[in-house]
Amino acid sequence: MASRPRRYALRPQDLLAAGGIARERHMDLIGIYHSHPDCAACFSPTDLRNSYPWYSFVVLSIQKGEFHHANSWLPNIEQTEATREELIY
Ligand SMILES: [Zn+2]
Repeated sequence: MASRPRRYALRPQDLLAAGGIARERHMDLIGIYHSHPDCAACFSPTDLRNSYPWYSFVVLSIQKGEFHHANSWLPNIEQTEATREELIY
């Protein structure tokens, strides 16, 4: 049985709300994370298309239900490519 691609959606109003909550707590919202089940922690074309250039995007690779590795990506302003950032965990 072929598996369908799984996607997440982040509504702009939820992102704004999260930023407001962070500011109330004197914090900055600097990034967003999501996971790739049974797939590498790459930044897919869909991830790039749905990104926001001023946030870091941490992608977790989950292999057979267990954390495997993670990468952090910073999209450029045109959302044409993303640079891999150093991620220490
Ligand atoms: Zn992704």
